[in-house]
Amino acid sequence: MYEFAVTPAVTQIRRRGVVITDVSAGSIGAELELEAGDRVMRLNGRVVRDYLDFRFQTSGEDELVIDVRKTTGEDWELNIERDEAEDLGLSFEQIVPRQCANECLFCFCKGNPETARPSLFVRDEDVRLSFLYGNYTTLTSITEDEMRRVIEQRLTPQYVSVHATDLDVRAYLLGVDKERADISGKMRRMLDAGIEIHAQVVLCPKINDGEILRRTIYDLAELYPRVSSVAIVPLGLTRYLTDERLTPVTPEFCRRTIDGVSIIQEDLRARLGSTFAFLGDEIYLKAGQDVPLRKHYGDYPQIEDGIGMVRSFTNEFDALMRRHKRLKVSEGRPRGPQPGSPAGVGRSGRALQGTILTGTLFAPVLSEMIDKFNERFDARLHVLPVDNEYFGGDVSVAGLLTGGDFLEARSQVTGDFAIIPRVALKSDEPIFLDGMRFDELRREFEVPLYAFDFSSLADLLRHGFVAESDLKLGHAA
Ligand code: SF4
Repeated sequence: MYEFAVTPAVTQIRRRGVVITDVSAGSIGAELELEAGDRVMRLNGRVVRDYLDFRFQTSGEDELVIDVRKTTGEDWELNIERDEAEDLGLSFEQIVPRQCANECLFCFCKGNPETARPSLFVRDEDVRLSFLYGNYTTLTSITEDEMRRVIEQRLTPQYVSVHATDLDVRAYLLGVDKERADISGKMRRMLDAGIEIHAQVVLCPKINDGEILRRTIYDLAELYPRVSSVAIVPLGLTRYLTDERLTPVTPEFCRRTIDGVSIIQEDLRARLGSTFAFLGDEIYLKAGQDVPLRKHYGDYPQIEDGIGMVRSFTNEFDALMRRHKRLKVSEGRPRGPQPGSPAGVGRSGRALQGTILTGTLFAPVLSEMIDKFNERFDARLHVLPVDNEYFGGDVSVAGLLTGGDFLEARSQVTGDFAIIPRVALKSDEPIFLDGMRFDELRREFEVPLYAFDFSSLADLLRHGFVAESDLKLGHAA
């Protein structure tokens, strides 16, 4: 039996095939009398392990032989002819993540309170999820099967947590031996096969900073453009992660890191034409410095890791302010409160007034922008920094705020509505890290509550009211 993960301690033994979860009405799948619960075992003679396999093996094929095990236990062989790209109308079960075999010093699982929702304790390390969602893997226990699959199915790009190219340091951080820590051969094999890699460093003061970081960046830059970027994100300590080998990230440390890395970035920009190594937004915010300008980020290669989010949002905000300045000058008066109307005026025609709740790290930056917005458009928006009581420690980012934290801040909400950052909710389910559901929180607020991402917030400021689509997002969330 094929097993995707074969590291003994972490193997998930799974039944063969992939389960169909839904069949669209009127589709080829429905015509063939396929049903939810049926299991696709083989496709054109090849084993199917998950929906990625199914996608890969059906792509470009107009003649298919599908072996199905029905929920009744019967085995069917289906011969299908279809027009190229005609959809079979099948949905499949989610990929069950394969888990890591590391014991990282800074593992986020150790930073969770015991009551956190169970999925927060899943130590996923899965090249499929890396390709699909940008999840980072360490490659320390990637199997030959997985490696061949990445190459054959072109699961590119891959996101790899390198942390340090110094093997002693990497082994120490990951809690594995040096042999396992050494992934240079694995990376080379992927790169030689045309797989693009984005790398990550979780920066731990006194462990992989300073000269180790400099070496890591330059070693990876040797592989540019096949290794196309490096994200450097700071260690986050919660009140539960108290390993004494870890040193908190301070504003002074952030300033030193920015000073050191800016010199490297400048050098790499001159040599490669790319900044290549990007510091996380938190490092600039914690240092009390402005995030770099737009051109520093190129095409934002690490935006999925949150790098460049603040710049992207501030630029949108600045553009909005400039645009309205021009409109005012050219038109001589503000437009009315219809869709596309000037910011600051609600749909009802009265001044926009509400509260935007966010983490304490981003709140001062957002507050400064919102003050300008209020002044320009006579709005009454208010930014409310929310403390993270749930994780404690130095956790100050919006994405780790919980339902309970927002609830604590509720009494300070003013205006006609409140907005929380959408990033605090699970990406595929309206649930916070502490297990509270969005609807539960919403019921506790006396004003309508919305969960917005940066672009919805920018839309609110641009249009001056909560658009229908955003309302839906708020309700769906
Ligand atoms: S690889 Fe990730 S999940 Fe595994 S121990 Fe390290 S930080 Fe935790």
